[in-house]
Amino acid sequence: MMTDVTVIGAGNGGLTTAVILAKAGFEVTVLEAHSYPGGCAGTFRRKHYRFEAGATLAGGFNPGEVMDIIAKHVGISDWKARFDSPAMTVHLPDKTQIPRYGDSRRWDVRQQYFGEDSFSFWQWQERTADALWDFASRSPPFPPQGPREIYDLFQTGVGWLSDNLRASIRPSLIRDAFSPIATRLTGQSENLRRFIDGQLLISAQTISQYANAMFSASALDLPRRGVVHLEGGIGTIARQLEQALIDNGGTLVYRQKAIGIREFTDHVSIRTNKGLTIQSDLVIANLTPWDLRDIMHNPPKSLQQLPAKPEGGWGAFMVYVGIDQEIIPADTPLHHQILGEGRLTEGNSIFISLSPLWDESRAPRGKRAITISTHTDFRKWWQLYRSNRDAYRTEKKKYIQHIMNLASRVFPKITDADLIEAGTPLTFNHFTRRKFGWVGGFRQESLFKTFGPHLTNRVWLVGDSIFPGQSTAAVSLGGLRVANSIQQQWD
Ligand SMILES: Cc1cc2nc3c(=O)[nH]c(=O)nc-3n(C[C@H](O)[C@H](O)[C@H](O)COP(=O)(O)OP(=O)(O)OC[C@H]3O[C@@H](n4cnc5c(N)ncnc54)[C@H](O)[C@@H]3O)c2cc1C
Repeated sequence: MMTDVTVIGAGNGGLTTAVILAKAGFEVTVLEAHSYPGGCAGTFRRKHYRFEAGATLAGGFNPGEVMDIIAKHVGISDWKARFDSPAMTVHLPDKTQIPRYGDSRRWDVRQQYFGEDSFSFWQWQERTADALWDFASRSPPFPPQGPREIYDLFQTGVGWLSDNLRASIRPSLIRDAFSPIATRLTGQSENLRRFIDGQLLISAQTISQYANAMFSASALDLPRRGVVHLEGGIGTIARQLEQALIDNGGTLVYRQKAIGIREFTDHVSIRTNKGLTIQSDLVIANLTPWDLRDIMHNPPKSLQQLPAKPEGGWGAFMVYVGIDQEIIPADTPLHHQILGEGRLTEGNSIFISLSPLWDESRAPRGKRAITISTHTDFRKWWQLYRSNRDAYRTEKKKYIQHIMNLASRVFPKITDADLIEAGTPLTFNHFTRRKFGWVGGFRQESLFKTFGPHLTNRVWLVGDSIFPGQSTAAVSLGGLRVANSIQQQWD
C-alpha cells in the first residue's frame, strides 16, 4: 500500500522533501498557506517589478552539490540558473571594497586587503569547508535519532574519513567542532575580523566570537561553491521543485493553511483554515518549531520545552526598491554587503541585491528591482505595533531612511527610486506565517544543539530550524536527509 504524506509548507525545505518522496513512490500532498511557493526564498510581484522576498544568493548548483543531486534524482533537466562572479562585494566603513571571488583571484584579493599573514586562516577555512561539504553531501542522519541512524551516521563517517584523511582531515578538526571561529582569528588583523564578522552575520546569524568554527568554515565558502542567479528570481527554485513534484505524481494545494494536527495510532489528521481535513500516514512540517507546536494537539516534549521566543533569534527589515537602470553603472556586481561603523548589530550592515540586467522578467524595460535587507530584533517591532501604531510607523520610516543612507554609499542616487516599499518582521509573519517573523533559523553556535527532525512516530520537521540550518541549499540538504530517513523507516 502507498504511504500518504502531507507536507505543510512549500518552502524549499518542504518542497525538496516532497519531491524526493514523490519520486520514491509515496503519495505526497503539499499544503501551502500562500498563493505561491518559496517562502523566505520566494519572488513576489509589485507594480511590474518582481522582488526577491528575502533570500537573494543561491548556492549549491555545482556538479555533485545538493541542487545538482536533487535535479538529477527527480528529473529537473536544467536549473534556470546562471553562475555569477564575484559572488558579492563587501564595503567596509572606510570605503574599501572587497570583491569575493571563488576562483584563483581570491588569493590576490586576500593578499591585497588582509596581507599574506591571513593565508593560514584562509587555507584552514577552505580545507575544513571541503571536508564538511563532502560530509554534508553524503546526507548524514545528523543529529542521529535512534539506533539505526547512529549506525548510518557511523558508516557515513567512516566512508568520509577514509576519503578525506590525507587531504582535509586534521586532529584539530575535533577542537573546531567545539570552538568558536574567533580562536582561528587570533593574531589576525582587525580588518579581517570585521570582514569575517560581516560575512558570518548573513550566513551563520552571528559573529566570530560565537559562531562555531566548523559551521563558519563552510558558511564562508559560498563564493568558492559558486553563486547563481535564477531567471525570474530566486522563487524559480521553488517553482521548478513544484513542477518536478507534479511530474512525479505529487500535488500542491495553495491557500490552505494548516491549523491543526492530531496524531492517532494509525494515522495523522490535518485540518486547514478552509475546512479541509486530510488523513495521512505521515506529516512533514516545513515550519518553525514554534509554529508547529501551536498547531499540534499534544506536542512532544522537545516542542513543549521551547522557550517563549527564539533566544537571540533575528528578524529582517526589508526595503524593496524599483529604480532606473541608468543610476547603476553597467558592470556593477549584483550583490553588495555594506558594513556600518561600530558594532555589527541591529541595522548596522545591509545586504543589497540587484536584478540582473539580462533578466527582463524582473523589472520593466530600463529599470532594475533591488532587495535590501538588514538584521533586526523582531521583539521590538511587535512591542511597538501593539503599544503605539504611530510609533511603529515612525520607526519604520526611520529604518528606511537609515538603510537608504547606507545604500547611497554605493548607489548615490538610490533615493531617486520610483518605488520604495518596506517590510518589518510583522510583514514576514504575514506572508510566510513564521511566528514572530523569526527568520534565518538558530544561530550557528554549536554543532550539538541542533533540532532533531523526527518529532513523533508520524511527525517530522524540515526547514531552517534543523541541521544544517539556514540558506536555500542548507534547507534542501536537510530535506534530503529527512526524505532518506523516511524512506528507510517506511519502505
Ligand atoms: C531577509 C533574508 C535574507 C536571506 N538571504 C539568503 C540568501 O541570500 N541566501 C540563502 O541561501 N538564504 C538566505 N536566507 C535564508 C533562506 O531564505 C531560508 O533559510 C530558507 O529559504 C528557508 O526555507 P524553509 O524551507 O525553512 O521555509 P520557509 O521559507 O519559511 O517556507 C515555509 C513555507 O511554509 C508556508 N507555511 C507556513 N505556515 C504554514 C501553514 N500553517 N500551513 C501551510 N503553509 C504554511 C509558508 O507560507 C512558506 O511558504 C535569507 C532569509 C531572509 C529572511
